[in-house]
Formats: sequence, C-alpha cells, structure tokens
Amino acid sequence: MTAAPKPSNADLAELLARKAETSSGILVRAFRRAARSAFLWPELASDLVAAKRPLTELHGIGPFIARQLRAWIEKPPREEMRPPAIRREFLTRADARVILSSNPDWTKRLQGDLQMHTSWSDGSASILDMARAATERGYGYIAITDHSKGLKIAGGIDEKALAEQAREIRRANETMRRSGLTVLRSIEMNLNPRGEGDMDPKSLGRLDLVLGAFHSALRTKDDQTARYLAALRNPDIQILGHPRGRIYNYRIGLKADWPRVFAQAARLDKAVEIDSYPDRQDLNLALVKVARKAGVRISLGTDSHHAHQLEFIELGLAAALKARISPDRIVNFMDLASLRAWVKKLRQRRR
Ligand SMILES: [Zn+2]
Repeated sequence: MTAAPKPSNADLAELLARKAETSSGILVRAFRRAARSAFLWPELASDLVAAKRPLTELHGIGPFIARQLRAWIEKPPREEMRPPAIRREFLTRADARVILSSNPDWTKRLQGDLQMHTSWSDGSASILDMARAATERGYGYIAITDHSKGLKIAGGIDEKALAEQAREIRRANETMRRSGLTVLRSIEMNLNPRGEGDMDPKSLGRLDLVLGAFHSALRTKDDQTARYLAALRNPDIQILGHPRGRIYNYRIGLKADWPRVFAQAARLDKAVEIDSYPDRQDLNLALVKVARKAGVRISLGTDSHHAHQLEFIELGLAAALKARISPDRIVNFMDLASLRAWVKKLRQRRR
C-alpha cells in the first residue's frame, strides 16, 4: 500500500486562502498573506515536516499558522484543495524548481530579464541596484520598464522624465562596463482598451525596446480579441506585457480568442510576455501552450519592483519549459545583438 500523496505547497496555499475566507478579524489577512507566501517557499512544507523541521522556518509563517499547516499535512482535506478559477494555474516556486531541475541547460540559456520597475515609477530600487542584482545572476542585459505617464497611480513617467532616465541608464552602463551587463532603455507603456499608447512615438523610438500593457477595463467579461489585435498592430510596441491582466485571488483576467491573438502576434513577429511575478504568472501555463502552437515569440519578465524579485524569473522559465516552447522562440534567450536586430527589423517594417 502506498501512502496518500502529501499536499503540495499549492494545495496548502489553497487551504490557506479558503481559511482566510471563513475567518474573521486579523486572521483574514494573516491567512491571505500566508497563502501568497506559500507560492514563494523554496521547499515543500511537507518535506520540512518529514524532516522534523519547524514550519516556522518558512517565510511568513508564525506558530499559529504552522500548527494549522501541520494538521493539513498530516490529514489532507482533499476536497478543499481544488482552487476556484481566480486562484487556478499558479505555479509555486517549489514546483518551478522541480520543473527546471529536469533540464539544467534551460536556465543557462537565459540572457536577461525584460520587465522591471525602479524608483523612477513604483519600484523601490535604483537602476544601478537592479543592474548589480542582474550581474549577480549572470545576465547579459536587463530592460528598465518603468510605467508611462498615463498610469498615474503607479507613478508613470512622461517623455521628459524618460529622457532624464536615459542619462542615469548611461551612467549605470558606464559603472557596470566591466561586468558584461547592458542596461536597456525601455518602458511599460500603458495601452488604452483601443490598443493605443500614451507616449510620443518619437520618444519611444529612442528606446531599445517597448512593452505595451493594459491596465484599465480589466474586469469586463466580454470577449476582448479586438483590443489585443489592435495592441499588436500598434507599431510602437514589440512586446505585449502581462496579456490577460489577471492577479491571484483578485482578478481573473480578460477573455479573448487566444489562438487568433497569438496567430496575429506570430504574423507580426511580436512577442507576448510571461510576466513571472508570482501573483500574475500571465500568460498562464495553459495559454503558453496555446502560444506554442502559434509559434509566437515569448518574452520573460519578472515585473520586479525590488532587486531581490529578479528571482521570480524561475516561474516564467518553468512555465515556458513545461509548455515546451522552442528555445528559439524565447526573446530573452537571444544575445544582445540578436535582440537589437529583432527590434530594428520590426521598426523598419512599419515604414
Ligand atoms: Zn503592468
């Protein structure tokens, strides 16, 4: 007789999220936060229990929640572990590590990270902080993608600030010259639901690459295929960031005829992103598989707002590997010269 499988960290996250829904007072927040932190635990909680290590070793877990987790691990309430759609298809870091360990060469191909925020918009670190953290990861490049001016709530920057940021990026590149890292000028340009950006195309043309992303009307239940097709046609962008706009336990994301959207992206040779921020994971795994069938380019970005968050890339790398994306379709697997050549080709095509 084989023992019943132990609950995974994702199972425990779901149990914690449910517990938050039936709790009151400060426990609501405590369980909610613990559910989110479960996605980031590097080890399986059940392995800790098996090794007789305290669960309070896990980030964000105090003695009270540790007792609850232990009870679930010892007697898993199976019927409560299936997540509703708003919490479904989120990989945990522990899952990602298992997936990535099956193919060590995959991670080695990664040249850089193509979405991150700094203190120029709503991030906490300077450009140089991000560059140093990227060097520790052995990257060849990173793209600085602060928010654009239309997203005021996230401290979006205008054309003037973007030009000032160019000077800081130039200085960072001088400082980092011997590291082999190149800091690329980019932006996460806010797109309206018609697929139009909020920045002067001339200013965008001076950047190394441009991400476009939707941040409004993200709760509509109607089919949004038209907005995606329009965004992909937008000549100023090369990458469509966090396409669905979903957020764990908060927003389910937009609906569209995805095969059609990805076919259009492939035809235009544009990339769709796997935003690897744990609460986003957008595209999610099922859609990455649909994207593979269309042969569309995939860009990996962490959407980091702190330097340590660059580690989130594991989630996107794992999703791409699990979906069997061909390495030649992954934008961040290109060296810098090839990345620049791709952007250049797209820009020439618009004329
Ligand atoms: Zn965004």
